[in-house]
Amino acid sequence: MTNGALVHDGVRGVTILGSTGSIGRNTVELVEARPDLYRVEALTAHSRVDLLAEQARRLKPALAVVADPAAYGALKEALAGTGIGVAAGSEAVVEAAQRPADWVMASIVGAAGLAPTLAAIRRGAVVGLANKECLVCAGSLMMAEVAAHGATLLPVDSEHSAIFQVLEAHQPETVEKIVLTASGGPFRQRSLAEMAAMTPEQAVAHPNWSMGAKISVDSATMMNKGLELIEAHHLFAMPEERIDIVVHPQSVIHSMVAYVDGSVLAQLGSPDMRTPIAYALGWPKRIYAPAPRLDLAAIGQLTFEAPDPERFPALRLARRALQSGGSAPTVMNAANEVAVQAFLSRGIGFLDIARVVEQTMDAIEPAPPSSIDDVLAQDLRARECARSIIAAGSGH
Ligand code: NAD
Ligand code: MG
Repeated sequence: MTNGALVHDGVRGVTILGSTGSIGRNTVELVEARPDLYRVEALTAHSRVDLLAEQARRLKPALAVVADPAAYGALKEALAGTGIGVAAGSEAVVEAAQRPADWVMASIVGAAGLAPTLAAIRRGAVVGLANKECLVCAGSLMMAEVAAHGATLLPVDSEHSAIFQVLEAHQPETVEKIVLTASGGPFRQRSLAEMAAMTPEQAVAHPNWSMGAKISVDSATMMNKGLELIEAHHLFAMPEERIDIVVHPQSVIHSMVAYVDGSVLAQLGSPDMRTPIAYALGWPKRIYAPAPRLDLAAIGQLTFEAPDPERFPALRLARRALQSGGSAPTVMNAANEVAVQAFLSRGIGFLDIARVVEQTMDAIEPAPPSSIDDVLAQDLRARECARSIIAAGSGH
């Protein structure tokens, strides 16, 4: 996964794609604390101009970009006289990723992050990957770009950071399996009947992690773990059947690697994204992170249970997508993005999310994509299909 890209000593240039989000804000905090290690090259956001401008005034990047073209005037005004370059539109987000930063945080949510993340990969950058949807969407083609351009992909997702930290990469043949832990989300103990009536507010109220709305809903359906299964498959070249998922409600063990001698190595920590972000930022060294320290005696017990396939069909869909291959993961991801958005805007119920995803997967033959453009076309087609399934009410 890492191709030995040079890591610069001294001050590293950092670009944060999605700096106003949950991961982005945590990254800003860590970068801002170490001006001796990091300077900021570019910051990008979708539309939160106030926060983006405030971050830019503090961190003084060369460029601040807002993806929503309608927000250009407001950003320009907010940064007038600072000397910070200002741009808008999705092309400009890609241009921000192309700027010469040593390290890029990919923390845009959804397949919208694919083009800018690829732009950073194509110039051989070290990329901290939080944006799992772009890897699920483009899979092997994206990993081929990483290899072709000598880029380095460092996992930021806590599970994948854990695996990366305990994986003995020099002897991959000794790895028996990867075990992804899952919190089980806010509805872990809810019945199907209760889940059917859950509101967006209830779905985004995660018991352990504070995150953006989309990934919070994905945690509630457990599609997040499905996406992470596909993410792990690509990052660690691990076949689907050798990736297990275990529910661990305390979110203390972030994932594990099991070896041929019976050893299981785990990484532990408080559920705080500043720890995996700091690992990726500092890599190959460790840097300080102000996450709460783990107090195992206070926690008392770590528990584990098997995920329930009846109440969480998303896990089955993700395994099916990996087994089918071709465009199936792209289609699954796109349909899920559309369905989650529809749920958040109260267009469909909670259980309809997985149903819309499954019906979209049933409707589209999983042809293997030949190029990234092909992936983007398949993503669009799946979005249209999911929208028509929702409009037809067959999601209900
Ligand atoms: P968020 O919604 O809080 O932030 C998303 C960021 O992306 C914002 O800065 C937003 O402005 C930007 N953005 C959204 N749509 C965009 C578009 N079309 N074009 C350009 N920018 C756009 O989300 P988050 O919780 O920070 O998650 C970001 C990514 O990291 C997701 O892929 C998520 O799955 C992953 N992740 C998050 C966490 C977490 O704890 N929050 C943990 C692991 C992985
Ligand atoms: Mg995760």
